[in-house]
Amino acid sequence: MTFSTVLFDLFDTLVRFDRNRLPEVQIDGRSVRSTAGHLFPILAPHAPGVDLVRFFDALIWSWQEAERVRATDYREVGAPERFALLFRRLDLDPGRIPADVLDALLSTHKRHLAQAAELPPEHLALITRLARRFRLGIVSNFDYAPTAHGILERERVAGLFQVVVVSADVGWRKPKPAIFEAAFRRLGIGPADALFVGDRADIDVVGAKAVGMAVAWLNPSGEAAPPGLPEPEYELKSLAELERILAPGDPGAEPSEPPAHLIG
Ligand SMILES: [Mg+2]
Repeated sequence: MTFSTVLFDLFDTLVRFDRNRLPEVQIDGRSVRSTAGHLFPILAPHAPGVDLVRFFDALIWSWQEAERVRATDYREVGAPERFALLFRRLDLDPGRIPADVLDALLSTHKRHLAQAAELPPEHLALITRLARRFRLGIVSNFDYAPTAHGILERERVAGLFQVVVVSADVGWRKPKPAIFEAAFRRLGIGPADALFVGDRADIDVVGAKAVGMAVAWLNPSGEAAPPGLPEPEYELKSLAELERILAPGDPGAEPSEPPAHLIG
């Protein structure tokens, strides 16, 4: 198979997310990793009678509720909508929360999430090499596009990608075809032109196969493929193995005819 384009999932494929890099906060005497300790002081003046414990519980609930909706039909629940769920859970009218307070909550929450994400140096080197031979793109399930773009800019790799499609902008999440098709449209390609690379069998493999793309499943722990799902064309222990898969498309990697002057 030869491809002109490689499309990547973002989190836990290109960048690693480490929960232990989230801020620590004491909730009811126990230490948890959460943005709650930074968000609560922003909302507190507008939420009389709400304490940190109740705020933390509502924050967790709003995430679970958003995840429940996302799992139902793959509609993305964007970060502002998720925060509206949080406000209602605290008996607050989302319409009465000032816009600058919502903006401060969103930017604080997402800044701390971004700080927990990092691009490993070996991934930077790999995509820098691949960008010389392929068009690269990202198709990511994430509820707030500015954070995804911000991580790529901070890591100085935004310019390596011709397209970055985030579910928060499309309104649909992988494995829904619409998010992959948005990438095809913006690149002017069809599914046969691209290889998809992602770490989730149920999201990345299922979604890419459904639109007719070949898939490389990043499966570092070697877990068994969930039964009943389509099989990926390739399975990778690490992203570095991509270069082996993609080598046949590179004329320099194939044994070539000796130059005419050596044949005589
Ligand atoms: Mg992922």
